[in-house]
Amino acid sequence: INEKLKRKSKDGKFVVATTSLAGCFGCHMSLLDINTELLDVLEIVEFNKSPLTDIKKFSKQCDIGLVEGGCANSENIEVLKEFRKKCDILVVFGECAIMGGIPAMRNFISLKECLEEAYINGLTTELGANVIPNHEDIPKMLDKVYPCNEIVKVDYFIPGCPPNANHIWKVIKNILLEEEYSITHEEFKYD
Ligand code: SF4
Repeated sequence: INEKLKRKSKDGKFVVATTSLAGCFGCHMSLLDINTELLDVLEIVEFNKSPLTDIKKFSKQCDIGLVEGGCANSENIEVLKEFRKKCDILVVFGECAIMGGIPAMRNFISLKECLEEAYINGLTTELGANVIPNHEDIPKMLDKVYPCNEIVKVDYFIPGCPPNANHIWKVIKNILLEEEYSITHEEFKYD
């Protein structure tokens, strides 16, 4: 491990948290798509709250929070605000987190119409169904889907759908090490 890292890290490692808001989990799949290099990542990084660890609650302040997906409901907002508070550096990755992505396609339709289409009028809806789920335990849908930076301050954005795995980890490592980072064409092309 780089000496600089050892000096900077707590318990010898940087602490990283991740979450998936309104996304398809593809960005998280991409995080794991670095094969054996994941072992190098684990040498310098310890995961805290994350679907990757199944740790549900923050147990300490984190160096970096990685957020996939935008905000489509009240719970997404709550989680995003908590990440902002508990993570020194907040990184959003993937188009859903940056621009709302696919879920934001509903932004052109009223919420009422969306819910009616999903639960009452949709082709796959059971005939005669006329109930839109509404329980205090179900997070309230927002009027539209919001990109993360419209809810909290975001420090870094990593575009892509999903972003390339090596690209994500190179950016994270370079942020942690405070090194300059140049993007290769291979890591940043979308064709
Ligand atoms: Fe899925 Fe793409 Fe959105 Fe990532 S950016 S959550 S891969 S749709």
